[in-house]
Amino acid sequence: MINKVYMFLAALGCACLCMLVVLPAGGVDVLEIVGWLAATGITGWMGWRLYLEAKMLIVQVESLKHDYKAQREKVIESTMQAKDYKLQVQLLKRQKQNTEAIIYSISDAVIVTDVNDRLLVANEPAGGIFGFDVEKSVLKLLDELVENAEIVRLIKKSRQGKIRDIRHELTLKGEEGPTIYDCIVSCIFDEEDKICGAVSVLHNVTREKEISQMKNEFVSHVSHELKTPLASITAYSEMLADGEAADEKTRKEFYSIIQTQAQRLNRLIEDILNVSRIESGLIKVTKEPLSATLLVRDAVQMIKSYAAEKNIEVKEETAIVFDQVAADKDMISQVIINLLSNAVKYTPDDGTVTVDSEVDEARQVVRIRVADTGVGIPAEDVERVFDKFYRVKANNKCAKGTGLGLNLVKQIVEKIHNGQVFVTSEVGRGSCFGFELPLIAEKALAD
Ligand code: ADP
Repeated sequence: MINKVYMFLAALGCACLCMLVVLPAGGVDVLEIVGWLAATGITGWMGWRLYLEAKMLIVQVESLKHDYKAQREKVIESTMQAKDYKLQVQLLKRQKQNTEAIIYSISDAVIVTDVNDRLLVANEPAGGIFGFDVEKSVLKLLDELVENAEIVRLIKKSRQGKIRDIRHELTLKGEEGPTIYDCIVSCIFDEEDKICGAVSVLHNVTREKEISQMKNEFVSHVSHELKTPLASITAYSEMLADGEAADEKTRKEFYSIIQTQAQRLNRLIEDILNVSRIESGLIKVTKEPLSATLLVRDAVQMIKSYAAEKNIEVKEETAIVFDQVAADKDMISQVIINLLSNAVKYTPDDGTVTVDSEVDEARQVVRIRVADTGVGIPAEDVERVFDKFYRVKANNKCAKGTGLGLNLVKQIVEKIHNGQVFVTSEVGRGSCFGFELPLIAEKALAD
């Protein structure tokens, strides 16, 4: 509208100017003056308007410039903020990855849940124990994932009660027997001390429990083993002191019993001491070149009378070959005697024990084997018979023992002589225990 008014006024101004140009020809002076005045006024007024418009425009341009600057600064600030956020997000992502990597690398089972008992993170061992897929189970409710009500209850109890740490022993039944876990549930709190979840760590303590139980059993075994010979030594020496052995023959019999029992006591105490000496590295070892086969022969002679009590035949199949090993004579003799006496101990009457030795030229070792026709060892126990204090439950009734003999064998052969023990066994058919020792090079011996 305003533009139209301006256009009209501009047209009027132009008309007046034309009149000024046209009229001097016919010439009315008054009209000429009015026209001139009108043209000048209109043109001045239009100039003034134009000036005002231009001024406004300049102001507007200035303000736009200012706005543009402000907007630009804002954009720059926002870009910087966005960069900052991006960095923070990257940092958080990295931190999350690190935390997850730590959780995944822990061998204990770890379960992290939120305030609603939904799974946030869990590692493979946790998935393995409770049977869920750790990747597909994120944000699922714990009740739906874990069948074991005990652990679910524990996590909920810890979260609801805002308890910092709860410790609980959890026993899970499996195909291979029960597994015991030391389970710690800790609540997670934010900066405002509000609870935001819980972390549960399950550490498998089955082995520790077994060892502690074995130690208890060992102490009671050892006490029992010590008590029996001690009781007979006390009884027979009292009878002797009281003059109850009337004749020389009975006295000699009593002396012999006391001697045998004292020797048994001695052996047992020696076994215990030897194991602890070897373990602590305090045992004195005297190695010399020896024939393994000759050591076997001596040991067989020693065991024969014991085997005869059960009518067990001891067969020796050793060849005369170069079988020199650098060994501590007493220790290796003890190894062979331990294996032989076990073979006799765990073989029913009228059985057979076969000892053989052979040289493996390719591997430069001498191999000694003690095979029996005894009760054998269940497959699940075979691997553990060399463990300290380990006794095969199925064979406990066959003979008394401390579970130390084979551990001593392993320590002497492997730790002191750089050799290797081995065993194969079949329940009801018999076992074969043995060991290998490195041969002394013939040349080295000649030098
Ligand atoms: P122990 O004093 O109980 O005999 P060992 O360490 O000598 O201790 O043997 C550990 C376990 O291995 C024994 O309790 C026994 O059950 C088993 N064992 C050892 N030798 C034999 C064998 N020749 N036949 C069957 N079982 C054996």
